[in-house]
Amino acid sequence: MFRSSVAAAGTFLTRHCRRTSHGACGTGIRMFSSVSDPEIKVCIVGSGPAGFYTAQHLLKYHKSTVIDIYEKQPVPFGLVRFGVAPDHPEVKNVVNAFTQTALQVRCSFHGNITVGKDVSIEELKQAYHVLVLSYGAETNRLLGIPGENLQGVYSASSLVGWYNGLPENRHLNPELNNETAVILGHGNVALDIARILLSPIDMLKKTDITAHSLEALQNSKVKRVVIVGRRGPLQVAFTIKELREMIKLPDTRLLYDPSDFEGLKHTVKDLPRPRRRLIELMIKAALEMNSEKEAENRGAATKEWCLRFLRSPLQIIPSDDGKRVGGIRLSVTKLEGSAESAKAIQTEDIEDLECGLVLSSIGYKSHPIDPSVPFDQREGLIPNKLGRVLHAPGMYCSGWVKRGPVGVIATTMNDSFETADSVLQDVKSGRLDVSASKGGFKVIEALLEQRGICPVSFSGWKKIDCFEVAKGKKAGKPREKLIMLDLVSYWNCQPWSPPSTWLVVSLLE
Ligand code: FAD
Repeated sequence: MFRSSVAAAGTFLTRHCRRTSHGACGTGIRMFSSVSDPEIKVCIVGSGPAGFYTAQHLLKYHKSTVIDIYEKQPVPFGLVRFGVAPDHPEVKNVVNAFTQTALQVRCSFHGNITVGKDVSIEELKQAYHVLVLSYGAETNRLLGIPGENLQGVYSASSLVGWYNGLPENRHLNPELNNETAVILGHGNVALDIARILLSPIDMLKKTDITAHSLEALQNSKVKRVVIVGRRGPLQVAFTIKELREMIKLPDTRLLYDPSDFEGLKHTVKDLPRPRRRLIELMIKAALEMNSEKEAENRGAATKEWCLRFLRSPLQIIPSDDGKRVGGIRLSVTKLEGSAESAKAIQTEDIEDLECGLVLSSIGYKSHPIDPSVPFDQREGLIPNKLGRVLHAPGMYCSGWVKRGPVGVIATTMNDSFETADSVLQDVKSGRLDVSASKGGFKVIEALLEQRGICPVSFSGWKKIDCFEVAKGKKAGKPREKLIMLDLVSYWNCQPWSPPSTWLVVSLLE
């Protein structure tokens, strides 16, 4: 089977690169490998920020680690590619650091391999000293209300996957032929979606949004986005950057109910600074809404959005033909408790909103990957202590599967470093037995070959990357994401024979 020259060079160079030893490093962990140390074979499941940051830290602070990153998608970077909004290119720059990690001779990327399906955890345990589970949180929390399955109701993750080129969401074809969309949830993902739905198409054209979603958004009739949350302004989960972007969105007016902000001015002064600034911005925007200048702007805008507070979804109301969304019934709630921990309690008051699209953005959830891995169903994460999976020696976790689906890339970086530190401490203390030599990817590769699975190497991804960037350049965007990735994984596995030449030519057309 064809393997990338980078990965192949990695196997060779590993033997020569363990000379550096015993250096001091910035985190309090000291480098403690020496040239005589046996190779520590580490398998990381998932190539999102958690996978890459864990790999980076291990490679930096232990010169005998050899890392294989397994990824179920044929391409790397997890939510940085498939989650982060297309109009946030600066956030995606983090892939440059991940690429540096992947290009290290002791690190290999193997895409197109679903752990738990193509290869079992038990097989990986046999082949590696250390297993780090960094497979994120891809499942959606369900609303659990009648009408959830009607046409026109989508989870945030599928809509985000659709505009970001996730192969399984390619055919979502969301209902965009009604003027009003309702988004349930007051987090950053909800604001990302609202912004994408309302942004002028000329702004989106310059991003890496997929061509099929750009075309659909160009024909979209959505003019109004209502963002609904169960609690009040003090409890929103979005951050100031995303709110500011919404407030500044061209050709769009903001609708606020000033009564939502009554009395808040006195409360905010005691809040921690980031939250105080966020609430102050909301209040300022709500007050400005009534100013003359703003009224003028509002008159000219063709689209609008609003934050609806203290409302909880009760039912999706079907359209007259009973097949699609006609509206949503909300229960008015009241708050019990104080500040950020206040709980929303439903009252008897209800409110119906007419709409043709409902997007549920109430959070992501992890799922168990294999029956042999401990999993806390209630919390939706792998039970662990500082990244050490409980009752599973040699097994670790990092990122959203470790601490739940909250936090930005920087938060994920810190907890991945924490997990890597736990691995390093366990190697040093002897708690982790690394004395026996392990087969690593060679063993797994043979199994995959028997099963007809074609991994995509990092050099395979670089070919895809070059192709995407070149195609995007023609359209005036940073990249045009390739979605027929199953073809590319086939391409990656073939030597440069007629079928692959045919594929390359057809892809480059
Ligand atoms: P992920 O990024 O999800 O990576 C997990 C990887 O594991 C994926 O590549 C997945 O395909 C792979 N995987 C899953 N199952 C398997 C399996 N069985 N076998 C092999 N591989 C598997 N943060 C910011 O800082 N800025 C932003 O603008 C921002 N925007 C966001 C927008 C959205 C819509 C979302 C959902 C999150 C956003 N975040 C943002 C948060 C950020 O994406 C997360 O903090 C981060 O991606 C979590 O990293 P992770 O590696 O734990 O998970």
